[in-house]
Formats: sequence, C-alpha cells, structure tokens
Amino acid sequence: MMIVMKEEASQEQIDSVVRRVESVGAHAHVSEGEVLTVIGAIGDRERIANLDLQGADGVDRVVPITKPYKLASSQFKHGVPTVVEIEGRRIGGGHFSLMAGPCTVESREQLLSTAEAVKQGGASMLRGGAYKPRTSPYSFQGLGDEGLRLLREAKDETGLPIVTELMDARDVEPVLEVADVIQVGARNMQNYSLLAEIGRSGRAVLIKRGLAATLEELLMAAEYVLKEGNEDVILCERGIRTFETATRFTLDIMAIPVLKQLSHLPVVVDPSHAAGRRDLVLPLSLAAAAAGADGIIVEVHHDPEAAICDGPQAVPADDFPAYVEQVQRVAATIGNELSAL
Ligand code: PEP
Ligand code: MN
Repeated sequence: MMIVMKEEASQEQIDSVVRRVESVGAHAHVSEGEVLTVIGAIGDRERIANLDLQGADGVDRVVPITKPYKLASSQFKHGVPTVVEIEGRRIGGGHFSLMAGPCTVESREQLLSTAEAVKQGGASMLRGGAYKPRTSPYSFQGLGDEGLRLLREAKDETGLPIVTELMDARDVEPVLEVADVIQVGARNMQNYSLLAEIGRSGRAVLIKRGLAATLEELLMAAEYVLKEGNEDVILCERGIRTFETATRFTLDIMAIPVLKQLSHLPVVVDPSHAAGRRDLVLPLSLAAAAAGADGIIVEVHHDPEAAICDGPQAVPADDFPAYVEQVQRVAATIGNELSAL
C-alpha cells in the first residue's frame, strides 16, 4: 500500500501514519520527495487496509501496489523515474551513463592505460572486476585485493567512479573502500543474503539479470536491496540463455521498455556479455540506446588480443571514442544525454 501525504502534511502527521503502519507489524518506508512525502506500507495487506488510513490527518490518498515487488514498482514512485547520482554523474530520468573498462583487472599497466583511454573517450565510470565469477574454477579468478588497490589508483588518476563486482558478503568491507557502484553478477542475482548486505551498506548497486531469470525475479532482487533502505539501485540486462548458440547469450531488448514500465529504477544494458563478440557490441549498444536504456556497461581493453579474460568481446581502446560518439548520438535522439564530467 502506498500512502501519499498531502503537500501541506506536517511532520507530526507523517510520524503518526508511520506509527500506525508499524503498529500492525508492517514496515513503513518513508520517501520524501521535493513536493510531497510518500509512505510505502509493506506487510499484511488486510491489516494495513483495516487501518483505514484514507481518512487520516494529512493523508491525500492511499494507493494499493499490486505487484509483488513494492519499492521497485513504478507505482511506488507514481511514475517518476529514479535518478541515481554517482559522484556527479547521473543515471536515469534523461541522464545516460557509459560504464566502460576491462572485464578483469589484470595488471597495473592494463588497467591504467584502459582507464585513461575510456576517460578520454567520454566514459562516465570505470568498470573492472577484482573478484571474478568464472564458469571454470581453473580459469583466472581475478587479482582480488590487489585488483581493488589498482582500481583505487585508477580512480585517483582519472577521477572516474568505480564499478566493481562483489561476489561474497565476506568481502564487503574491502570492496566498499573502492566501489562507487557495487556490481552483483548474473550468477549472484538470487544471492539474497548478499543483496541484503549491499542494501545495508547503502552503496549504489548494479544488479545483473540472471542467465535464466524473469524480469519479475530481477525486480524481486532489487526489492531485497531497496527494503534495507538503499535506494540507489540500477538494473542491468546482460543477455539470457535461449536455444540460440550463434552468440554467447541473447540480448533481451524488450526488457528495457518493459522494465521501465514496471519500475522507476534506471536500466542499463551490457552488450559485451550478451554477445561475447566484439562485432556485435556496437549494434547492440545502438539498439539499447534507441530502446530507452539509461546507460551501457561495456568491456574495453587497451590490447584485447592479450586479455586474460573476455578479449574477443572487448572493444579496443582505440575504437572507444568513435563508439561513444555513435551511442551518444542515438541516445540523444530519444532525449537521453550522456552524463560524464
Ligand atoms: C562481468 O561483468 O564481468 C560479468 C562477469 O558479467 P555477468 O555477471 O553478467 O556474467
Ligand atoms: Mn567479462
């Protein structure tokens, strides 16, 4: 249930509604907008309805939220898109974000030269994994803490905010020291204790859609973070498993407009992991921008032939400025503007 307060509602009236919601064992999620306050009452529907809050002082209207995800639903923000701000770069509500960088932090030279190139090319943020979820336990698993240290150095050098993956709740502290956006990988999308931990951390999070997850399941994953009071959640479509074998995964372009109808959260697309092939990264990025994505997370490498991980899908750093130029142009045609400093 969503309780929309009147514009002139007093703090006392807001507090009183919160107390009444909590008195029936429900959770009251207060979101203070520029004009008015909305209280999400999450809990037993019938007990909340019995409070008859429609007539309470300061209440303008009570709107039921019919979806199983409440805080993530577009109803909850009455159709207004959420804008997540990361160190001055915005994402959502007309702001387009380009997160670019290597799949994995491999070495100081590799990370710093790629970071500098994506910064010059117009990226909004730097991506790079220190902890890597690899399908094979025999593959390179990432540099771990050393990778985080190098990401910190790249941030100091370029000023770009860092997007990096947290795989295990036990690593939350060191990752929080570096990550401006914590990435939850596709394989961890339903790791609910990890999601709740990130929710409590308050740090912005990018949640990748699981390989075989429905959009509703993705939104329920977001709900785990939002429920802890963390509102900076970004959804990511990264390709799903289908019967097709010509490409690594199948990019679900429809997920973009559908998620944006269902939710107020920003939606980004990862063309690199969807395709697994460099030649498809640009067309998929253009399609994503045209379909209304709020951003793209893309793999870029200064020397893809030498990459330890995901080289065949990496955009060479030299090609990145031309790539940005084209993506930016398509995003602009539907009113989304690249947000970089
Ligand atoms: C990644 O972004 O490096 C990655 C491993 O992605 P995903 O979790 O989508 O496979
Ligand atoms: Mn990768």
